[in-house]
Amino acid sequence: MNPVIAVVGAGFSGSMAALHLLAALPRSWSVLLCEKGGRFGRGLAYGTQASDHLLNLRAANMSAYPDRPQHFADWLGRLPEAEASDVVATPAGTFAPRALYGRYLAELLTQAVVSEGAPRLHLVHDAVADLVPVAGGYRLRTEGGTSYAVAGAVLAMGNLTGPGAPPSRHRLDPWRPDAFGRLHPDRPVLVVGTGLTMVDAVASLRGRGFSGRIVALSRRGLVPKVHAPTRAWPVPDLAAADLASLTRLTRRIRAEIMAARQAGRDWRDVIDALRPITTYLWRSLPPREQARFLRHLRPFWDVHRHRAAPPAAAAIAAEIAAGGLEVRAGRILAITDGPSEAVVTIRPRGGGPDAALTVQGIIDATGIGRVDETGDPLLRRLVANGLARPGPFGLGLAAGDDYRLRGPQAGRLWTLGPLLRGSLWECVAVPDIRNQAAEVAALVAALVAAPLAGEVERPAPSLRQAG
Ligand SMILES: Cc1cc2nc3c(=O)[nH]c(=O)nc-3n(C[C@H](O)[C@H](O)[C@H](O)COP(=O)(O)OP(=O)(O)OC[C@H]3O[C@@H](n4cnc5c(N)ncnc54)[C@H](O)[C@@H]3O)c2cc1C
Repeated sequence: MNPVIAVVGAGFSGSMAALHLLAALPRSWSVLLCEKGGRFGRGLAYGTQASDHLLNLRAANMSAYPDRPQHFADWLGRLPEAEASDVVATPAGTFAPRALYGRYLAELLTQAVVSEGAPRLHLVHDAVADLVPVAGGYRLRTEGGTSYAVAGAVLAMGNLTGPGAPPSRHRLDPWRPDAFGRLHPDRPVLVVGTGLTMVDAVASLRGRGFSGRIVALSRRGLVPKVHAPTRAWPVPDLAAADLASLTRLTRRIRAEIMAARQAGRDWRDVIDALRPITTYLWRSLPPREQARFLRHLRPFWDVHRHRAAPPAAAAIAAEIAAGGLEVRAGRILAITDGPSEAVVTIRPRGGGPDAALTVQGIIDATGIGRVDETGDPLLRRLVANGLARPGPFGLGLAAGDDYRLRGPQAGRLWTLGPLLRGSLWECVAVPDIRNQAAEVAALVAALVAAPLAGEVERPAPSLRQAG
């Protein structure tokens, strides 16, 4: 059999890594793309079928390929009118349903399967359960019990979801909104988290006929800002001292926003100007300052950086104005489950008496989890066997600039996308991941083409400047 590189996970990261690998590897090599969710090219973000779940980036920024920036916008433009009816053009740009984006990615994969004379892309509809080192690579074992000999693997398992809220039998998964249809139509529901996943959850609840009260809770009660038209702003010129202290860095960015305002410009111009250097900023901060960012500043950064499409933001604003959605700042002290409801005790931020909220469901929309909290069997095995170790702050996996996993036994295993969160911070959106996919494929190809004994690592020059 031809030598094989496996890719674990067929969301955006894995799908794009697989496509770039096909181009970068010698033609005698194959790619095994493994997906446990059943649908290739969709992942968590683009698997939704709801037409009001919009991309939170403009179509112009969503090309799958770094060197063809118009690729997705052109694909959208070629769709028959009836199929593009849910695409929304706003003064801030064009926003497409995420389901359409999933279709775009699935089509790219289909083209790759079809266009190869002798198929080199093999789709495995199963969860990867383990990777065991053997001579010449790994034995990849799936949950279904099949084994494959692979020379190396790229891990593209996406965001880890962690237990953001205390356990409850009334917990609902935001990624399985079909279960929302079973809720009583007007007894209250709690959403834990107030970011973009909450925005989706509210749309899914209403879309399934839920007319009751929704309470959304997070530490600070901040909801995503809305996209607005932006113009290019120069990348701020930062001194070494600005990069050594979070306080100085924040002050410097605030000053830049003031300067933008005085020039008649929008704060979004400055936030967007930081995007190409965010990874560099993150990596420049000392670990103590990174920890301070995670503790104090992250919610503020997230709502300014990860903005909502105008129709989605308008729907949330209308919900709040009409009293259907109440956003609270605080934390959960306890959840007491009853047979059909849970009583949630909430301590409000900034003081005041604890409040008891009786809800029929708790949607955990808290976002990213840590490796040590994950129930993912593959990750747990890789860490336990020394093939991987958690990244900084337990966010994702530790990897080098060449995307290769670090760990006592790590070898020919690479990763990309949200699993690099602790190392890169800015690595969860398409514009970042598409660069990584091209880079990781080139690095894998360079390494596997080299004889095993003389493995040479090539640095990834643009890793620090992903954007
Ligand atoms: C709701 C939502 C909306 C978003 N919207 C945007 C947007 O508009 N624009 C943007 O740029 N970014 C957006 N993002 C960011 C998004 O994270 C990235 O764009 C990208 O989709 C991440 O893809 P991924 O492949 O790394 O992860 P995922 O999409 O999570 O895919 C990982 C895949 O791996 C599979 N998998 C996991 N473990 C195994 C295993 N052991 N074996 C086999 N398969 C496995 C999973 O089933 C899954 O399909 C959004 C994210 C979310 C969650």
